[in-house]
Amino acid sequence: MPRPIEALIHSQALAHNLARARRAVADARVWAVVKANAYGHGIERVFEGLRSADGFALLDFDEAQRLRQLGWRGPILLLEGCFEARDLELCSRLNLWHVVHTGEQIEWLSRHKTHTPHRVFLKMNSGMNRLGFTPAAFRSAWARLDGLPQVDEISLMTHFSDADGPRGVSHQVAAFEAATHDLPGERSLSNSAATLGHPGLRSDWVRAGILSYGSAPDAPARSASDWDLRPAMTLRTRLIATQTLQAGDTVGYGSQFTAEHAMRIGIAACGYADGYPRHCATGTPVLVDGQRTRTVGRVSMDMLAVDLTHAPQAGVGSEVTLWGQGPQGSSLPIDEVAQAAGTIAYELMCALAMRVPVRVVDPL
Ligand SMILES: *Cc1c(COP(=O)(O)O)cnc(C)c1O
Repeated sequence: MPRPIEALIHSQALAHNLARARRAVADARVWAVVKANAYGHGIERVFEGLRSADGFALLDFDEAQRLRQLGWRGPILLLEGCFEARDLELCSRLNLWHVVHTGEQIEWLSRHKTHTPHRVFLKMNSGMNRLGFTPAAFRSAWARLDGLPQVDEISLMTHFSDADGPRGVSHQVAAFEAATHDLPGERSLSNSAATLGHPGLRSDWVRAGILSYGSAPDAPARSASDWDLRPAMTLRTRLIATQTLQAGDTVGYGSQFTAEHAMRIGIAACGYADGYPRHCATGTPVLVDGQRTRTVGRVSMDMLAVDLTHAPQAGVGSEVTLWGQGPQGSSLPIDEVAQAAGTIAYELMCALAMRVPVRVVDPL
C-alpha cells in the first residue's frame, strides 16, 4: 500500500468560489488567477472547476500553453507580460493578452512583426512600487502604445498593496483615477481582497486568485466561511502509529513537547517534505476522524504527532485532516494552519510537495 497521504482538489468548491466572486461584482468579468500552477493545485486539475471563468491569468508561458492544450480558447492574460522580445511571438501564436509595465516591453512591441494586433493591459504603479508606470509616466506610455500598429485594445490596470488591510485602496484608486479618468479602455483593479471587500470599485475585470481556492483574502481578520468560500484543497493522511506517554515524556526532535500527565498521541504520515509547514508549534489545529485536536512537538520530515487525549477511539488507520474538508462534514480552514505557522494560506498551497499524490474529486 502506498503511504497514506493524499491531497484532494474539489472541483465543486472551485466552481462555487468563482460563483461567489461573480455574486460580489455582478457586472465584472472574472479572471481566474492560476499562476504558480494554480496556487499549487495544478492547472490541469482546476481546469474543470474554473472553466466558467471569463479568462485565466498567469505568468508562465508554459502554463499558458498547457491551458491551450486543455482546449481553452478564451482569454489568457500574462500578468507580468513578456520577459524578452521574442516572447511576443508566443503571444501572437497562442493569442495571449499581456501586461505592459515597462518601456522595454513597448520597445519590443514596436519591433514585433505580427498579423494580428495584440490586446494589452497597461499597468500603473499606483503605490505598490513593484510593477508599472508611475501616474506621471502613464499617459505617455498609453499614447506610445496607442500609436503602434501591433497594438489593438488597451486596457488599464493596477494592483493593490492593502486591499486586505486597514490602509485600504482609496489612495491607489485616487492616483489611478487622476491619471486615467479620460482614457478609454476597460479597467482591471481588483484582486480577491478588493473583489470581496471593495465590490463597489469600477473594475471591469477582477482578478480572483486566493478566493478561488477557498481561503479568505483577509485572514485572519475574516474566515473563509465568513465570505462563503469553500476549501478547494484537502490535505489528509492517516495515523501510522500511536504512543502512550507518561508525565515527563517528550515528543520528537528537540524534545519540544513534554507530557504533563499520561496521554496518548498518534503519529500521522505527513511532514515538512509533504509541504506541511515545519514552523507549526505545538497546538496547531488538526482533525483526527473529523474531530479537532492539536499537533504536539516538532514537525519532522515525514511525520508529525497529534494529541489523542480526547479521541480514545483513534488508532492506526484513523483519518487525519491537515487542512480542508474532513469526514462527516467536518473541515479545517487552511488559514488557521497558516496562522499557526506564521504564514499565509497562499504559501501552504503553493508548497504542496511533488511526492503527495493528488486526486480531483467532486466533479461538477
Ligand atoms: C497574484 C495576483 C493576483 C491575485 O491575487 P489574490 O490575492 O490571490 O487574489 C491579482 N493580480 C495580480 C497582478 C497578481 O499578481
